Amino acid sequence: MPAISTLFQHSPSPIERLTLPEFESAGLSIWIKRDDLLRMGPGLALCGNKWRKLKYNLAAARSAGHAQLLTFGGAFSNHIAAVAGAGASFGFKTIGVIRGEAPAGLNPTLRFARECGMHLHFVDRSAFRQKEEDGFIRKLEERFGAFYHLPEGGTNSKALIGAREIIRESQEQQPGLNADYWCVSAGTGGTAAGLIMEASPESKVLAFSALKGDFLKADINSLLSASCTDGPKPWELITDFHFGGYARYRPELIQFLNHFYQQHGIALDPIYTGKLFFGLTAMASAGFFPGGSTIVAVHTGGLQGIEGFNERYGSPLHYTA
Ligand SMILES: *Cc1c(COP(=O)(O)O)cnc(C)c1O
Repeated sequence: MPAISTLFQHSPSPIERLTLPEFESAGLSIWIKRDDLLRMGPGLALCGNKWRKLKYNLAAARSAGHAQLLTFGGAFSNHIAAVAGAGASFGFKTIGVIRGEAPAGLNPTLRFARECGMHLHFVDRSAFRQKEEDGFIRKLEERFGAFYHLPEGGTNSKALIGAREIIRESQEQQPGLNADYWCVSAGTGGTAAGLIMEASPESKVLAFSALKGDFLKADINSLLSASCTDGPKPWELITDFHFGGYARYRPELIQFLNHFYQQHGIALDPIYTGKLFFGLTAMASAGFFPGGSTIVAVHTGGLQGIEGFNERYGSPLHYTA
């Protein structure tokens, strides 16, 4: 791992054995890597994989002398909240370019971002689509001054370095673990790509798509071909548990999440980690995993989104983080 300022160092997040009946009865052991418990800033926002992906970017921004971070996201984005939290914790000014017109009232994610000092810059959907174009970035620089640019969702080569630490850390904590499967929710696929790079060739990464469509397979492969010098690694995209995409849900998912919280005291978010655990449980019941397998599921955080989800849909989730 690259050397990094002590400012960005932290102790490992816990890794815990879970007892879930669907796994016990199939002779499987399941563990959870609690990155939801990494709390690096105010509130719940700077945690999980968003922290892992920001960490080496923040270090790079700091050592290059940047005073500002600029990034892109939707109005409920965990990444926007994390960047805002990072600004408040580590003394960067932050600019969030938000997709869509400014709403009359801000949702909890954007309220938090603004409380952290983030400048919210709303752009319409067609302008937002230019987020990767040099001309558009230059215009933003003319307007806001120099900044360290973080892509939407925070995925870039430095993000992958941070994501790899999830496995490295787990193996240091549990040297005898020998995971057969590393399982993670995927949006841009950056976290999954980092896990695929770090996992031993004997284990397989399962990336659970939170979105409809299988474009993620190509996206993850191109992240791997840009950063991974090893040969092909075993991984699979699981596309059966996206529930229609971001901010879509069905009653059975909500019921599962409330029950999971009741049983284990672990809050899952409805966009990413909830779909991961729902899917894993269904797959264990359906006999997907060979008996005796060890499965590690990564809790990537996302808990800041629960309040906004409840506000939008009439409080279907009976817990807070
Ligand atoms: C953003 C996010 C993901 C998806 O991460 P990617 O690296 O974009 O695939 C998964 N879980 C949570 C909680 C997230 O906030």
